Amino acid sequence: MRLLEERIIKDGKVKAGNVLKVDSFLNHQMDIALFGEIGKEFHRLFAADHVTKILTIEASGIGIACITAQYFQVPVVFAKKNQTKNIAGEVYTSKVESFTHGRVYDIIVAKEFLRPEDRILIIDDFLANGSALLGLSQLVKDAGATLVGAGIAVEKGFQAGGKLVRDAGVRVESLAIIESMDEDGKIVFRHS
Ligand code: 5GP
Repeated sequence: MRLLEERIIKDGKVKAGNVLKVDSFLNHQMDIALFGEIGKEFHRLFAADHVTKILTIEASGIGIACITAQYFQVPVVFAKKNQTKNIAGEVYTSKVESFTHGRVYDIIVAKEFLRPEDRILIIDDFLANGSALLGLSQLVKDAGATLVGAGIAVEKGFQAGGKLVRDAGVRVESLAIIESMDEDGKIVFRHS
């Protein structure tokens, strides 16, 4: 998606450890006009898939997921991180290794919000090593729901996640795929 690529070039900052900072428009301050275009594009890509619910993970996926949900007219459920006091049996849980913080945490969703009849679209801001996406996919599987695919704003194509998740049979649509980036600010996108 050209608009997103241009914005990454203009305002993205490449940090040490293969982290792309997009705090001025995606991850901290949020450009809602841009989110609208992102949501529209996800809707175009998944319009035929009868999505009943969007699933994301707190915190940075929530904004994009909510704007996207307006185009699908469906609810958003976000997986919570690190809730320890839940009664076993009432929640689906899975483990995710944080790319940006380097630790493993539990993600949880209450069973009442993921039903076997649901057709789930996962939305997230980034795809790096794929742990977040695989963790979310596991929750969908555990619920017996159908995963129609995943909409990702920025995929770092030089990391393992994209291949891993696609090889697992998940349809992944990424709006910007970074082929390479370096700390001098050079960012190259992949176009198929
Ligand atoms: P994964 O689980 O695919 O390794 O990483 C995905 C998660 O890590 C995303 O939900 C995102 O919040 C975070 N993340 C991964 N790489 C980056 C990055 O380069 N920049 C930012 N801002 N977040 C990232």
